[in-house]
Amino acid sequence: MSNTVLLKNIEKRRTFAIISHPDAGKTTITEKLLLFGNAIQVGGTVKGKKGPHAKSDWMSMEQERGISVTSSVMQFPYKERVVNLLDTPGHEDFSEDTYRTLTAVDSVLMVIDGAKGVEDRTIKLMDVCRLRDTPILSFINKMDRDTRDPIEVMDEIEDVLKIAAAPINWPLGMGKEFKGVYNLYTDTIHVFKSGQGHTIPEDIRIEGLDSAEAEALLGEYIDDIRDEIELVRGATHEFSQEEYLAGRMTPVFFGTALGNFGVREMLDGFVEWSPQPLGRDTNERFIESTEPEFSGFVFKIQANMDPKHRDRIAFMRVCSGVYSKGMKMRHVRIGKDVKVSDAVTFMAGDRESVEQAVAGDIIGLHNHGTIQIGDTFTSGSALKFTGIPHFAPELFRRIRLKDPLKTKALQKGLQQLSEEGSTQVFFPFNNNDIVVGAVGVLQFEVVAYRLKDEYKVEAIYEPVNVATARWVECSDTKKLEQFKNKCADNLCIDGGGHLTYLAPTRVNLSLAEERYPEVRFRATREH
Ligand code: GDP
Repeated sequence: MSNTVLLKNIEKRRTFAIISHPDAGKTTITEKLLLFGNAIQVGGTVKGKKGPHAKSDWMSMEQERGISVTSSVMQFPYKERVVNLLDTPGHEDFSEDTYRTLTAVDSVLMVIDGAKGVEDRTIKLMDVCRLRDTPILSFINKMDRDTRDPIEVMDEIEDVLKIAAAPINWPLGMGKEFKGVYNLYTDTIHVFKSGQGHTIPEDIRIEGLDSAEAEALLGEYIDDIRDEIELVRGATHEFSQEEYLAGRMTPVFFGTALGNFGVREMLDGFVEWSPQPLGRDTNERFIESTEPEFSGFVFKIQANMDPKHRDRIAFMRVCSGVYSKGMKMRHVRIGKDVKVSDAVTFMAGDRESVEQAVAGDIIGLHNHGTIQIGDTFTSGSALKFTGIPHFAPELFRRIRLKDPLKTKALQKGLQQLSEEGSTQVFFPFNNNDIVVGAVGVLQFEVVAYRLKDEYKVEAIYEPVNVATARWVECSDTKKLEQFKNKCADNLCIDGGGHLTYLAPTRVNLSLAEERYPEVRFRATREH
């Protein structure tokens, strides 16, 4: 690929994730986005390969529970752009995965339920986005229902999420009386027609709020709506792309994902304004996405996405340069060159073999146990991307096997699950226990389910006297040895070989921190 072609290809990329509170409509909007993506691909008619589905729920447990445990990637073309949508797990318990996925995107779409406004999970995710000033575009969903007053929802975004909100369009009514949206910048009404949820809806437009057609559409509401829009124009921020890109302002769109209305307008704004692939920091220097040398990092490892394949996939964000099929790349942590000829991509949900991928794209590498979350790959340089966190677990269980002959299978299973980041495993210095840690309680259920399903290991998960864990570091080797001797009862090695302190209580942790000031007790660890 020549440099000019490479730059053109990078410019086209838009890599993002959707953040929302469960039930706000993330899955539904994902389906509609794929519908637009698929349709464009086959020349304007809606004809997905097996019908457009959001193929993000693989595991049967997810289907039973109706939650998304795993996370996936979908690539689709739209309007001269190539959009990469990274799915984030919906359930609160899986926030660790979500955090890491958010390190691999360049912007996010925030979906808010118009009837509920800003909810807890959105607040938390917004805090994560703020760490990197990730640009945020908002979609206020479910306008086909009786929602809260849109002005109130806008205020809530500003007050609670502490970000300036700039409406791009404004809803005309709601619930049964939802008539469409009005674009504040082009003075165009997009008319809502129900029953078009499963198709690419016709874009019925009326030019001008002052037109006779607008009056005919809005009937008795016309005067109120004109007043309201007058007020909205005066009382809200004007959109600035610069402020949006700096993460200080969110453009806001209204619509209904279920009715597939307002989604196109949002998507048009998204591909127009959202950032092209951004550079990333490494331990040595900042890497620009436009640099010719290949580089990327692994932000997620996932098992058995497709029961027919039964393998593990390491998801890598390409940060610069080009991946070409069959190329050699350096696996920096282990210092080896590997030839990659079978990376996969996720074209609208179907796995396909990738010929080439550029900055902003996500590729899936087949992982036979050597790749870990946070690993960097390059075409030669020994640098390491930073900022991919691992969080100290808050919940712990001791694992006891039902069948002692299964020890090997258990160890293998736990090793793999911990490499994936599905759980964290600890081996205490002074006894033969195996302790697993999780950030959320549902994680244990996933571990139990997968150990049984994939490794045929049945185990009992007992309560254990551990309140929290800290990764331990000390540059003074002598002091570290002293500390290890004194605190051996609390120390263990985690699945990645790192020294870890397991504290039975918070008070115990504080005391240890006071007693050993030269030792650092870390609540997060970089991979
Ligand atoms: P998620 O948990 O954020 O992925 O939410 P879903 O997409 O699964 O949606 C949750 C529920 O809200 C489902 O029953 C959807 O059918 C419904 N829903 C999603 N979007 C809309 C909408 O625009 N209008 C209405 N009335 N319901 C919606």
